[in-house]
Amino acid sequence: MTLSDPELDRYARHIVLPQVGGFGQRRLKETKVAVVGAGGIGCAVIPALAGAGVGTLTIIDSDTVELSNLQRQPLFRERDVGYAKAEMAAQFAHRLNGFVSAKPVQQRLGLENAQQLLGDHNLVVDGSDNFATRLAVSDACVGLGVPLLSAAAIQFQGQVGLFRSKPCYRCFVGEAFDAEDCDNCAELGVLGALTAAVGGFASLLAINSIVGVGEDQAGKLHLFDGERLSWRTISIPADPGCRTCSSM
Ligand SMILES: [Zn+2]
Repeated sequence: MTLSDPELDRYARHIVLPQVGGFGQRRLKETKVAVVGAGGIGCAVIPALAGAGVGTLTIIDSDTVELSNLQRQPLFRERDVGYAKAEMAAQFAHRLNGFVSAKPVQQRLGLENAQQLLGDHNLVVDGSDNFATRLAVSDACVGLGVPLLSAAAIQFQGQVGLFRSKPCYRCFVGEAFDAEDCDNCAELGVLGALTAAVGGFASLLAINSIVGVGEDQAGKLHLFDGERLSWRTISIPADPGCRTCSSM
């Protein structure tokens, strides 16, 4: 896959980086990323990946824009209230970068359709807001062999982790959360700037992992404390009893 003159011009600040270069930029162009959730995290990740030249973005979200989203979801404007988030976000990505193919999927991702929606991607970025969806995404990614970058933000706390099958996200959270939505921005609140910070970190990790910059981050969880303004990193051990990845 080659880069045209307008692409070389557009991505000049990437290509001059020794860690990226033309090779890394072509890698970004060849990559297909599924973004689950066009909420606070998705609204940071989608422009970063579209701007960076990720060739194909699939944006999966069943919701419509609500007024209470605008505090932390800068892809949407007041006049978008009531419209489908997936469609609005895909339009944003396409307007930002015409070289990106951005496909909206206005469906709720669950156990029954996760593998079908996420198959044929090189990376899944999960910015959904509930454990049932996160676990359905994780189980599908393990089954498909697709790396999963999971990002979440609530109140003043954020977490970002990359999972390559084993350990998986389920090793981290366990079995307790499949049935119901255990966390909820509506009840607990979330600072808008926090989702931007955590989503920005997730975007950087996504791009680094696609291009191959730095150490592989798989199996590490990065935790952000938005009150103390500090990141720390922990390693996640594989759970030998994990029902998803222990047989891998
Ligand atoms: Zn596991």
